[in-house]
Amino acid sequence: MTKKIIFIATAVIGVILLLIVFNYSSNPYEEEQVFDSTPDVEGQPTIGDADAPLTIVEFGDFMCPSCNAWGENIYPKILKDYIETGEAQFTYINTPFHGQQSEKAALAAESVYANAPDDYWGFHHGLFSEQDSENHHSEWVTDKVITDMVESHTSLNAQDVLSDIENGEHGAELNKDTELNSEYSIQFTPTIFINNVMIQDPFDYDEIKETIDNELDR
Ligand code: CA
Repeated sequence: MTKKIIFIATAVIGVILLLIVFNYSSNPYEEEQVFDSTPDVEGQPTIGDADAPLTIVEFGDFMCPSCNAWGENIYPKILKDYIETGEAQFTYINTPFHGQQSEKAALAAESVYANAPDDYWGFHHGLFSEQDSENHHSEWVTDKVITDMVESHTSLNAQDVLSDIENGEHGAELNKDTELNSEYSIQFTPTIFINNVMIQDPFDYDEIKETIDNELDR
């Protein structure tokens, strides 16, 4: 009887441990991570005062619904509280985790940034707003959507942007981004850095504020 109870108890503990391990590996934000350096934002679209003491970086994907939600709910707070006050600059780095559609959107954004940097953020937010909220797997990054966004938000000729995508004109810039993805072990989008600190939960604005205040105090 005692042996049976020990056997069952061991089995139950084993299952619990497995569940903990499984849950841990499936939760991307279990631990805040501190890296040796801040991601290099040279040549990347950046908004805010170039002399700002803080660098905030989003590793994002135009195909990622959470990135769209982050852009709508958290980014405006950071913009108001830290970017517009001159305390932080904000940079977006492409993290094309959803295949060809992610890459197409990223190449479009790189083309707009290279040819009309002042129009970049309008295009960026416009493209995110085109996500298909009904069907996250739909291939919504069509030539028509890119054309509409280029025409509504930039001074560029949409056909030039489509040609750039077709010819992989800004493939080198996209490679630079994916190298940064590897360098900073990006596994989930959005991943947010405050200087060299990778935020544990990008949707926890209190954590973001606390990390920003700690970094500003240093
Ligand atoms: Ca880039």
